[in-house]
Amino acid sequence: MNLIIFGPPGAGKGTQAGIMEAKHGLKQLSTGEMLRGEIASESDLGLKVKDILARGELVSDDIMIDMISRRIEQPDCEKGFILDGFPRTVAQADALDTMLSDKGKKIDHVLLLVVDEDALIERIRMRIAQSGENAREDDNEETLKKRLGVYNDQTKPILPYYRDKNLIREIDGMQAIEEISAQIAGILEK
Ligand code: AMP
Repeated sequence: MNLIIFGPPGAGKGTQAGIMEAKHGLKQLSTGEMLRGEIASESDLGLKVKDILARGELVSDDIMIDMISRRIEQPDCEKGFILDGFPRTVAQADALDTMLSDKGKKIDHVLLLVVDEDALIERIRMRIAQSGENAREDDNEETLKKRLGVYNDQTKPILPYYRDKNLIREIDGMQAIEEISAQIAGILEK
């Protein structure tokens, strides 16, 4: 089974994808984590994208599509994967569709975490306060507002595409973490 976890920055996508990986044996593929790994190792790609991430903007579609296309070929994705942070533009969603059908695969569910934007800003404030020195470089209020704007302008327009395919499963992302993961488990077991 292959899933997309979808929602604005700070909605809890990474947390839920991590729980699903442990519970359902699906591989979590977080493009944000992959990019942060490249930055930490100071690879050519890392150097290229560092400032883009710090500004809260999007890395180019070509780079992201190539990254995911190669990643889902790996043996650890054989049982299924959870895309966390991808696709983020309509072009990425189109490319994903083509790449999956070429590989004889498909997306089974798009789990949409529905959250309140003001609450998100509060959540990110808490994440910054709790993470101290380990804080993500893009976890600050100014960048969050930028990332929310990018989500609304470039990422949300993907939703009608998956709605037409009847793949969207809406989940109230303001519930407690355990309630959200229980609801997701119910969807996956159907
Ligand atoms: P995330 O951890 O998913 O919030 O991603 C952190 C940052 O990585 C984003 O703000 C973007 O700069 C970049 N990024 C992650 N995934 C993508 C993607 N699919 N397309 C473009 N940029 C991305």
